[in-house]
Amino acid sequence: MVRCKRASDAALRDLARRAVEQVADPELPVLTIADLGVLRDVTVRDGRVEVVITPTYSGCPAMDLIEVEVARALDRAGISESRVRTALSPAWTTDWISEEGRRKLQESGIAPPRPGAAGRALFGRHAVCCPRCGSASTRLLSEFGSTACKALWRCDACREPFEYFKCY
Ligand SMILES: [Zn+2]
Repeated sequence: MVRCKRASDAALRDLARRAVEQVADPELPVLTIADLGVLRDVTVRDGRVEVVITPTYSGCPAMDLIEVEVARALDRAGISESRVRTALSPAWTTDWISEEGRRKLQESGIAPPRPGAAGRALFGRHAVCCPRCGSASTRLLSEFGSTACKALWRCDACREPFEYFKCY
């Protein structure tokens, strides 16, 4: 049987990485899964690509969709031998959101979680700053915003409601 010449594992890994890091988060389309830190690893063994993702929280309904989108992105890049693995440990924390990801959140009017805030009880412990005017005079309106991953807050200074990406 004739085997087609394959790209080296390193080249294949680069190709796969570039393809999957463009995948947008279904709940926060301004962010890619790379920005969020959901994309953990891309490895290649014997020409077979494995992509490891960690859900932002267990039971996040968006995760099935991310798996589908990752598989689709690999397919578009011409990579057929691949699998997507979900790693639940270590658990995702908001500390994994990249600087770029925090900047994009802020620009889209969602208060980014503070670095290092993960794991601590959030509400009441430290201020959430308004992404529009920067005021720390804000209050929690609802634990749940447009998606379960976000809480709804309101700024007392500019009186605008805004969403806060919750820490886990
Ligand atoms: Zn404000």
